[in-house]
Amino acid sequence: MNYGFVINNKTCIGCHACSTACKSENEVPLGVYRTWVKYVEKGEYPHSKRYFQVTRCNHCANPPCVRICPVTAMYQRHDGIVEFDPDVCIGCKACMQACPYDAIYLDPETHTAAKCHFCSHRTDIGLQPACVVVCPTQSIIAGDLDDPNSRIRRLLAHEKVSVRKPEQGTAPKLFYIDGDDVGLTPTAAQANFMWSDLVSEQSVAAYTNGHGNGRYEIIPLTAVQSNNQLLTAVRKNNPSHASRLTPHAASGVAIRSPQPQGIGNHGPIHLGTSRMAEHLIQTTYNAQHKIPWHWPVPAYLVTKGIGSGLFVLLAIFFGLNLVDFNPVLALAGNFTSLLFIGLTTLLLVLDLDQPLKFHTILTRPQWQSWLTRGAFILIGFTLVAGLWLLLEGAAFMGLMDSTVAATTRPPILVIGFVLAIAAAVYTAFLFGQAEGRDLWQSTLLPAHLVIQALMVGSATLLALGLFVTIAPAMMTALTWIFGVSLAVDLFVTLLGEFGMPHASEVAARAAHAISHGKYRRYFWGGSIGLGHIIPLILLLAVGFGGPLAPGLLTVAALASIAGLYLFEYAFVMAPQEIPNS
Ligand code: SF4
Repeated sequence: MNYGFVINNKTCIGCHACSTACKSENEVPLGVYRTWVKYVEKGEYPHSKRYFQVTRCNHCANPPCVRICPVTAMYQRHDGIVEFDPDVCIGCKACMQACPYDAIYLDPETHTAAKCHFCSHRTDIGLQPACVVVCPTQSIIAGDLDDPNSRIRRLLAHEKVSVRKPEQGTAPKLFYIDGDDVGLTPTAAQANFMWSDLVSEQSVAAYTNGHGNGRYEIIPLTAVQSNNQLLTAVRKNNPSHASRLTPHAASGVAIRSPQPQGIGNHGPIHLGTSRMAEHLIQTTYNAQHKIPWHWPVPAYLVTKGIGSGLFVLLAIFFGLNLVDFNPVLALAGNFTSLLFIGLTTLLLVLDLDQPLKFHTILTRPQWQSWLTRGAFILIGFTLVAGLWLLLEGAAFMGLMDSTVAATTRPPILVIGFVLAIAAAVYTAFLFGQAEGRDLWQSTLLPAHLVIQALMVGSATLLALGLFVTIAPAMMTALTWIFGVSLAVDLFVTLLGEFGMPHASEVAARAAHAISHGKYRRYFWGGSIGLGHIIPLILLLAVGFGGPLAPGLLTVAALASIAGLYLFEYAFVMAPQEIPNS
């Protein structure tokens, strides 16, 4: 048994009976949707046409929402239905970031994730989903894709079908007969709703030039791939073949291969002067989606960078005996590192919509999720760094023979170093699992996170120098590490934004929003100016010495930390504003 849907756009009349029946059958609250009918209008009067697209969870054969869920609240049943368990969900919203189709919402009453579940309570007793039963034109067909005699299989055998975003490698099991590029491609059309205002945080307007003058720009294709590569990939991804040939992957098996994304099935769709002028295509009705992650996520990235970077530096200096062991600095530095890792965990928990269920990650871990792996890395790091704090503290206060602390120091610092690097880096892999956000799929991210950790870790250690004596040799080395990591981070930030082709047109849009659009002030004023240029200038001033040097170092350190937060804010928010449906 392998359940799937076919939706026949030839016969759909856009009556919303399916969305209404779904609401009623599943008691879906106001303002959120398990299925909805998107309207897109194309053409110029009198040659215009309205396209309907019934949109919902695709019950992907290879569901990224299942892979990222830290507690198996989102899971794939043996019959191919992607189901969720609200009793287990902790409200981390990671599945909403992983789904490339905007299929998941956070239930405003239960504060847990929810979506179309194929009316599993009905299918389990041999009934069809409510939307199938209610459709007056029989345009929704549900059935067993593995049964060669089922109606759905026979339809798939002789109809040309499309799926949404086949390039994502999720192997969707919702097939559209007569699906049109303008409906299937979320960023194809300008939104201009007929019966409501655009109220959601998530932008559904077409891409603008960021200057508020209402003109549209074309994303340069060179930012994505060359035209030929695009067309080759489109041909390769022809859904009429791909949809039938896609293997039925077990849950959690990654079958995604790097391909151009965010393009229509029949070639790139552009607004402006390209294939289609913007006034000829408009989304006139759609469901809007909220942005799942806000300021706690960029704040968590910064606190985690400080905590892990600080420990890495202590481990290098004291573990390799590069300087004489300074118990006061070791205690103060390690305590500060633990404080920031504790803040990181607190931010993670506070961002959950079910914070009291946080312990479920420990009692019911889903090991493929980098949220789970990250939680255990943070716990492991806290235990090791905490043990070091205890041993050094006891030795410093004369409660224990200092040779014990000295003997255990090297292995503790080695293990702590490895865990601190893992703590700094794991978010890159978590963001990689968030397959609904193409900009986060950057291959630069692991290295970038390590550089950021060294930058803000050294900044914090230098600021600690106001309160704790740091040997001159170590102070000089730290200043150099801070300066070099600032320069390297500046280079990597600019490289990621301008110097590398983006994974897709959607990623290029998000990057453009950061450098030229809504987030340009965060990027140029915050990250580049406050976070890099000002600290580098202050470091040059420090190089000339003088009584103001310690104060200037501290200001430089604080500026770099503030700049990093502003960069992370733009990096986290911009991709979430590109609609996925
Ligand atoms: Fe459904 Fe989205 Fe999960 Fe695919 S990734 S199974 S569309 S929720």
